[in-house]
Formats: sequence, structure tokens, C-alpha cells
Amino acid sequence: MKKLALHWQILLGMVFGVIFALIFTNFDWGSQFITDWIKPFGSIFINALKLIAVPLILASLIKGVSDLKDISSLSKMGLRTILTYIATTIIAVSIGLAIVNIFQPGKSIDQDTREELIESYGGDAELRQKDAEKQKEAGPLQALENLVPDNIFGAASNNGNMLQVIFFAVFFGIGMILIPEKQAQPVKDFFDALNEVILKMIDLIMLFAPYGVFALLAALVVEAPSADLFMALLYYALCVVLGLVLMIAAYTLIVWLFTKKTPRFFINGISPAQLLALSTSSSAATLPVTMERVEEHLGVDRQVSSFVLPIGATINMDGTSLYQAVAAVFIAQAFGMNLDFATQLGIIVTATLASIGSAAVPGAGMVMLVIVLGQAGIPEAGLALIFAVDRPLDMVRTSVNVTGDAAVSMMVAKSQDKLHDPKIKNWDDNYSPQ
Ligand code: ASP
Repeated sequence: MKKLALHWQILLGMVFGVIFALIFTNFDWGSQFITDWIKPFGSIFINALKLIAVPLILASLIKGVSDLKDISSLSKMGLRTILTYIATTIIAVSIGLAIVNIFQPGKSIDQDTREELIESYGGDAELRQKDAEKQKEAGPLQALENLVPDNIFGAASNNGNMLQVIFFAVFFGIGMILIPEKQAQPVKDFFDALNEVILKMIDLIMLFAPYGVFALLAALVVEAPSADLFMALLYYALCVVLGLVLMIAAYTLIVWLFTKKTPRFFINGISPAQLLALSTSSSAATLPVTMERVEEHLGVDRQVSSFVLPIGATINMDGTSLYQAVAAVFIAQAFGMNLDFATQLGIIVTATLASIGSAAVPGAGMVMLVIVLGQAGIPEAGLALIFAVDRPLDMVRTSVNVTGDAAVSMMVAKSQDKLHDPKIKNWDDNYSPQ
């Protein structure tokens, strides 16, 4: 029998989890059974995701930064590429923050459900205390001071600070760029291989995903049985999708303004890559198709695309950063926390960095969300809350990630005078080549 695709398995896991819990809660012992025997598997799944976060950042970011070695030879293009990538990511996070603040999906949860939620994830007192401590300590330069760890193992430890790990990884990567290539090569090979191992570990964790989701959903139904929570999750998912659609619109507009290529030309050219991204949830898996479409159908010179796109697949994840911003604020709202302006500004920085550090594989964006949550003092247990709808959102955000890479490659090509008439004209498009 043909194996069911992972996203279907996960969707089935979710549906069965809900059905299972709805049936079992009808028995007197049902809820207790789920709490004792099912819920732990959900916690194990979330723990495994969190476990992988620190090695993932180290390996993928060190590899990413040290790959930028080409900057010396392609400095102009490199700088333009990086700056444009950062700019589109900041636009994406800002769109996400605007939407989640306007629609406030987490506030649609009623007070009783919120109390239950807080109760089931560690208790009110602990949350409030953490919040209070954070407020008390924060001086104007606190964030900057927090960025630099005095001990990398401390930073990477249980109560450590993910942003410090990122700082270390970037610093390390820069060090690698600055030493002679021959000396750096073994270290680079090591981190390349480490990166592969970590990606394989994520694959393995994702194999468990349907069961993990089953357990999480079943526990969710038992612990917060209110229909209210599910409506809130749906509302949250719609906010993310709205943001992602707006982001695609923003790309087409920017490409149009910058390169004079019409939205129709752009979308027709890139759509097969978008669909592949949708079905694989992996920008890395989609990369060969993205490159082919961008070169053959959008007219970007290979010199530009071969440099801009692989870097983009690693560091430019606008869909992911937008999602992380919405998810973080949603979780805070669901737990009844009010995030002040400074914290939201912090989210722009951390979501930008976290999306840069996210691997281009399914589910990576959610793993890295831990950083954004940790930095903003939002309970990490909230991951369990949003996991239920993560996979469909992963599909859409990956599609946006790929679209963003293609858009930036067109802009960089235009600025380098390397945007030509495409070799293959898009089917029904009667554009006039510029
Ligand atoms: N799946 C996404 C990608 O490959 C990353 C993420 O999980 O957001 O682009």
C-alpha cells in the first residue's frame, strides 16, 4: 500500500486525537486515562522538538554564516542580497504583528478557558512571577547586555538564552570567514555534517509527529474542553494565512515597482515552485525547482540566482518570521499576558533572527519559535497549544518563503543589470519584456 504523505498522517492524527478524546471523556475514568497515558507522549514530542533547538541553531547558523564566504568576491551582490532579505523579513514580521494586534485572536478565549489553560501549563502564580521579574529587571540596554553570554554552556542550558546561542553562532561563523580557508575547512566540514545529522534527527522526530499530535490534541480536548479554544485556534490560523497572503501581495507589488514585471508574470513564473513548497513544507527540497523557474521563466541570470537562492533558502524565511510573530503574540494573548511596545519590538528582532536560523525543512519554524517565546517571556508550553494547526500553516509559510527568495533574486538581478527576457515565455502571459 502506498504510504500516506506526512501532512495527511498528521491531519489524521489530529482528527483521531480529537475523536478519541471526545469518546473517552464520556467515561468516568476517560479524562484521567488520557492525562496519565496519552498526554505524556505529547510532552515527549514537544520536548524532543525543544531538545533539538540549540544544536540546530549552532549547526545551521554557523554553516549559514560561514557559507557567506563568497561575500569577498561578490561583495556588492552579497551585501545587497543580505540587506534585501533582512528588509523583506522585517516587513513580514511587521505585517504579522499588525494583524495579530488588530484581530487579537488569543483574546477571543473566555476567562474560564484561560484560567484552565494557565492552570494546565504551570499555574498562574509562576507566570505572573516571571512576568514581574522581567519587568523589574529590564533597563534600557538590558536586551543588548543579554545578547552576549559569559558562558556558552550556560547559554545553551535549560534556563539559558537562545539569543545568546545565536550570537555565539554568528560570532563563530564570522571568525571562520576571517581565518584562511584551508584552516577553516575542517571546521566547516564538521558543521556541515553536524547540520545533516540534526536535519536527520528532525526527520525522525517528524515521523513521530502524527502520534505526538494525536496525544496533544487528545490532551487539549481533556484539559480545555471548551469549543472556545478551538475557535480561537481557527481564528489564529486565519490571521497567519491572511498575513501570508498579504506578504505575497507585497512581493508582487515590490517586484512590479522595482523590475516593472507584472504580478501576473511573476506569479505565473514561480507558481510551480510555490505548489511544491506547499506540498513538501521544505524550501530546501523546493530549491532546484525554484532555481529552474527563476532562471528559465523569470529571466534571472544564473550568476545571480545560484548565489541568491541557496542563501535565501537558508536565511530568508519571511513566511516563517511572520508566522512566528503572530504565534508568539497569540500565545501571550491566550495566557492573558499583555505585551508592551518594547517587547513587540524585541519580537521583530528575535523573529527575524529565528527565521534566519530556521532550517529549510518541515516544522523548523516552530522549533525556532522557542527563541521568540523565551526572549519575550512567553510560556514555552504554549507551543503545545498551537501545534495542532502548525502543519497546514507550515505548508503555506514555506510557499511564502520560496516566493520571497524568488522576488529578492529578481530585484538583485535587476540592480546588477542581470534580469533578461526569460528563455521560456509563461503560458497565457502577454507581458511585454522590459
Ligand atoms: N518549513 C519551512 C521551510 O522549509 C520552515 C518552517 O518551518 O517555517 O521553509
